[in-house]
Amino acid sequence: MSGFSRREFLGAGAALASGGAAAPEDWFDRPMRWAQLAFVEDDPVQYDPKFWIDYVRRVHADGVCISAGGCVAFYPTKIPLHYRSAWLKDSDPFGELVTAFRQMGLVVVARTDPHAAHQEVFDAHPDWIAVDAQGRHRRHWASPEMWVTCTLGPYSFELMTQVTREIVALYQVDGIFSNRWAGSGMCYCQHCQKNFRAASGMDLPRTSDPQDPARRSYIRWRQQRLFELWRLWDAEIRRLNARARFIPNTGGGALSELDMKAVGELAATLAADRQARRGLAPPWTNGKNVKEYRAVMGRKAIMGIFSVGVEEPYRWKDSVQSEPEIRLWVADGIANGFRPWFIKFSLTLYDHRWLRVVEDIYKWHHGAERYLRNEEPLARVGLVYSQQTAAFYGGERAREKVEDHILGMYQALIEARVPFEMVHDGLLDPQRLARYRLLILPNVAALSGQQCEQLRAWVRRGGNLLATHETSLYDEWGRRREDFGLADLFGARFNGRVEGPMRNSYLRLEKDPVTGGFHPVLKGLEDAGRIINGVWRVEAAAAGLYPNPPLTLIPSYPDLPMEKVYPRQPKTDIPGVFLREVGASRIVYFPWDIDRTFWEVLSVDHGMLLRNAIEWATNEEKPVTVTGPGVLDVTVWRQKESVTVHLVNLTNPMMMKGPLREPIPVGAQKVRLKLPAGLKAKKVQLLVAGGAPRTEEAGGYLTLTVPSIVYHEVVAVDV
Ligand SMILES: [Zn+2]
Repeated sequence: MSGFSRREFLGAGAALASGGAAAPEDWFDRPMRWAQLAFVEDDPVQYDPKFWIDYVRRVHADGVCISAGGCVAFYPTKIPLHYRSAWLKDSDPFGELVTAFRQMGLVVVARTDPHAAHQEVFDAHPDWIAVDAQGRHRRHWASPEMWVTCTLGPYSFELMTQVTREIVALYQVDGIFSNRWAGSGMCYCQHCQKNFRAASGMDLPRTSDPQDPARRSYIRWRQQRLFELWRLWDAEIRRLNARARFIPNTGGGALSELDMKAVGELAATLAADRQARRGLAPPWTNGKNVKEYRAVMGRKAIMGIFSVGVEEPYRWKDSVQSEPEIRLWVADGIANGFRPWFIKFSLTLYDHRWLRVVEDIYKWHHGAERYLRNEEPLARVGLVYSQQTAAFYGGERAREKVEDHILGMYQALIEARVPFEMVHDGLLDPQRLARYRLLILPNVAALSGQQCEQLRAWVRRGGNLLATHETSLYDEWGRRREDFGLADLFGARFNGRVEGPMRNSYLRLEKDPVTGGFHPVLKGLEDAGRIINGVWRVEAAAAGLYPNPPLTLIPSYPDLPMEKVYPRQPKTDIPGVFLREVGASRIVYFPWDIDRTFWEVLSVDHGMLLRNAIEWATNEEKPVTVTGPGVLDVTVWRQKESVTVHLVNLTNPMMMKGPLREPIPVGAQKVRLKLPAGLKAKKVQLLVAGGAPRTEEAGGYLTLTVPSIVYHEVVAVDV
């Protein structure tokens, strides 16, 4: 539990434990394509409503999100401190669009943004403004005539509650989507000081070290406060319109701050706000986002917000991205279960190139809709992420110590073409895990005794496990244990030391003296003799009998001067991997940071070793095997009357850094799909290329060849 009271959400959790499918009268599961029209302040006098209404109709969007208020009101608000657009005069651009889209039968959600306020708010209530560690009120970093608000104080709890109520009462919208509602960093205002002291008896923390008791309490308190705000706004909205909900812009993976388990219990539907990739983000990042959300949302609808612009730190918000970049980003999101949601800031257009691209994507999506209403993923591998590990073990270094392990494992799974899901470490109960065959713990260092027990129970039920590095070596608060919490499963004990960063260290490949051959986890590496080691390693020894480990340590030796570069200890018996078979289960434990090093160095040997280890540990044929050249993201889904396989072509020289210049079609892919038990294929189609491929069906498997993939192909099998 990432610093949040379990009891607090037990009620909500029980109601949604069955996966949380929306009741039939709810709208949440209905919209498949969203359009977000985000006004800028001078839009009221210059935007063309007819153009946008027509565009939304053309792209078959069935949900819209329109800017209403908060920082700037785009309707004639009566609330004194609620700032109206200086261009509003007596118009109501928000209301105009709401009426038009209502008439078209669309779901209509209003956008608010509470993070910034104008001078008159400051003048009336200086205590509503965020305060920095030096006690100064915070001016807005990008619009210095404005002020940053304190989200945990009366600005949100009082003024924004009134705004929320007014919008729902006047327009009966289906929901309020609030952007930047969770604050803009640490606040030292009088309300935060007083409220935190009342809750914890402590002063606000001055350090970001999660082992500092005040910081630890603050991490919990801030979440409690935000969930309080969420419940307040949600209750006020529902009081005025029972069908409507608060939809916070929130959520993410290990590095996200609000406990995702609680988020998943509270939210009726969510939109993941990852607008495009930037820097060195791979294009599969969009698919990863949806997997992280689905881990806690289950069957509930998840929208993927994408912008059409360049998303680098310099924030060219009016820019337009290359067509291949938009297409690949959205394709990977759709393949992983997102319902696309485009956002356009400023309804006055400077660059029209994106319009046709989004229209094409949405029209295809509309035509293929019945194959995109996924009921469940058929993946058998679960990749665990842990917010408590990031918060309390990773702290300020969480990106490197936690997220980079996940990213390396993710890349290895993509390269191995293994369909997989992500699993939240707060949801390891038997019911949630039942669909899986293998759980992967990529340096999930901080696990409670109860979580360790859940994993033990998983193995007792025949589940397989692959873990790396410091997994379970810390408790849920990031305090180091004497030994691994999962020592008994790993068959390893901790020797008290972590070595690193290591240079010039290797792993020796050992034959099994009994069979005279190499273990299957070394497949493809038989001629190597040795491979490079990782950078950090936990000193771990076998807890019981572990003769002939297939990988053994060659300790670091000098890498300069060149005359001195020779191994001082060419052979040890220190295992580089622990492999066990316990009952029906297989367990793999790598004491070194194979996943993190793979992310940093992308060693082909490490990728191969991970693929082999995943394959050995899973110990069954994949639900779908795709053979052919290139790098593909492969996902497999069940719908009510069909099964689909998505293939996203990530093969591109620009894969690891955008934007893509051109798509590079990948050659023929042989697809071997396991049909769910007792089902027969009635009709098989390729939803992008069109047409019906030649298929063979034998032994419950369907095989076919996809001749080529530009961005994305979907094999749709009616059953
Ligand atoms: Zn504050």
